[in-house]
Amino acid sequence: MNIFNPANSIEKDTQESKYFVINSQQILTFKNENFVRPISADELNWSGLEIKKKHFLGYLNDNACFAVSSQGDCVLEDTVFSDLRSLLGRIPDDLFSVISRAIQIQNWYETHKFCGKCGAKLVENEKERAMICNSCDAPPAYPRISPCVITLIHRDDEILLAHNVNFPENFYSTLAGFIEPGESVEAALEREVKEEVGIEVKNIKYFESQSWPFPSQLMLGYFAEYSKGNLTPDLVEIDKADWFNIHQLPNVPPGKISISGKLIEYYVKNYS
Ligand SMILES: [Zn+2]
Repeated sequence: MNIFNPANSIEKDTQESKYFVINSQQILTFKNENFVRPISADELNWSGLEIKKKHFLGYLNDNACFAVSSQGDCVLEDTVFSDLRSLLGRIPDDLFSVISRAIQIQNWYETHKFCGKCGAKLVENEKERAMICNSCDAPPAYPRISPCVITLIHRDDEILLAHNVNFPENFYSTLAGFIEPGESVEAALEREVKEEVGIEVKNIKYFESQSWPFPSQLMLGYFAEYSKGNLTPDLVEIDKADWFNIHQLPNVPPGKISISGKLIEYYVKNYS
């Protein structure tokens, strides 16, 4: 069992340090190991990688843990840089939050080099994780998270699933969308549902949330009950949407990977 405690600055010495090595948004993994894990200081020393930047993430099992931004080839045996999305089934649940943090902080740092207001070079604030501009009064640039609402709509023993234009054939999922500035989560949910499939919902209930680092979403999962209207997919994002009996579902995302799958599994299991 891994225990991760996020922190922004190192406040204690630890016996070992652990490193998640990232190269162009890909993470270093071992081909001969089933699970993704951080590497040790020794492994990092012998990796042959050029280290561009280390970001302290917090404490993993009481050891200081870092995201390492690297370049060049890794000479450690059986290693490969892998896309995080392709690793989803191989990341232990208890490491997902730290890996998600590693990828997002590294991405934030790489994309916040200059001030968006005056164009001057940004510098790191040593007191908190923020990039600041010393040339103008632009506010500090913190790592950004984009909240998204994701909704399972139900109608007794049926659930509403939608087919996104980019999905494989016969693969369906719940509806999801970004929350707009000024909106509450509930208002965003109602708007997205109306826009994407043309119906209205009621009895909105919060389920749980999930960090989704592609690149920086926070998925807020909700259940909602069908209220009124006819299904009319927007044909832009959603080309098909339908009610499915909970015992006859199409291919849907697995619950152990995404909150969408979790919402579906939870509803099917608890419907009676
Ligand atoms: Zn500036």
